[in-house]
Amino acid sequence: MAILLAAAGAQAALVPCRQPADTGKVADALDRLRHSVDPCGESPQVLAVIERLEHCAGARYEICTDGITRRNLLEPHDADEPGTIIWNPTLRSELERGCDGDPARPVVRDPVASLLHEMVHAVDDCEGRDASAHELEAVRIENIYRRAAGLCQRTAYGDTPLAAETVKLCSPVHCECSSAAGASAGQPMPPATTQRQGPAATGETPADLAGDGPRAHGDPRH
Ligand SMILES: [Zn+2]
Repeated sequence: MAILLAAAGAQAALVPCRQPADTGKVADALDRLRHSVDPCGESPQVLAVIERLEHCAGARYEICTDGITRRNLLEPHDADEPGTIIWNPTLRSELERGCDGDPARPVVRDPVASLLHEMVHAVDDCEGRDASAHELEAVRIENIYRRAAGLCQRTAYGDTPLAAETVKLCSPVHCECSSAAGASAGQPMPPATTQRQGPAATGETPADLAGDGPRAHGDPRH
C-alpha cells in the first residue's frame, strides 16, 4: 500500500483524509496561506512550512475536517499510519484576552491560522522533533498569517508567553513590526526557563498531543 501511495504524486507527504472530509475548505485554506502577505515580511516562513510538509520524506500527513472538535490537533504518525491533522474549519473560540492595546478584546481562533499552526506541528513530527515541545514556535508562525489577515496576534500558548522579541507590535490599522521587547509599555517577560509563581491563572496545562491551544477537557487519546 505504501508503494501505491508513494506513486500517487510528487507531493506524497500531504495525502487525502482517509475519512470523508471537506477537501474544498482545506484547499481554500491552503490557498489563503500561500497568498498571504505579512506586513512585517515574514510570509516566506509560511510558504516554507507548506513546502517542507509537502516534501517531507519521513512520513505522510492527512488533513481531516471535524466540525465538532473544540481544539485543533495533530496526531503524530507512526510506522504504518500517516499523521493526522484534525481541523475544525468553523472553530472561532477564544484563545486569550488582549489585542491591539485593548486588554478586554478577545483573541479568537481563526480556521486558516489554526491549520497553519497544526502544519507546523506536522513538519516537526515529520522531521523527527516532538511537536508538543514546540508550541511557542507554532504560535509564532501562526502570528505571521494573523498579521497578514489583519487578525489579533497571540501572545502566549496557554500560560506560557512568547518571547518578547518574537512578538511584532501592531495597532488596529498598522503594524510597526518592532518587537514587543523594545516597547517600554510592555509587561516584563519571564526568563526563558519559565518559573511559575503560584498556580496557573486558568488551571489549564498543555496537553501531550500538540494542539492549537491547551486542552480544556481530558483527551482520551494519548
Ligand atoms: Zn500547537
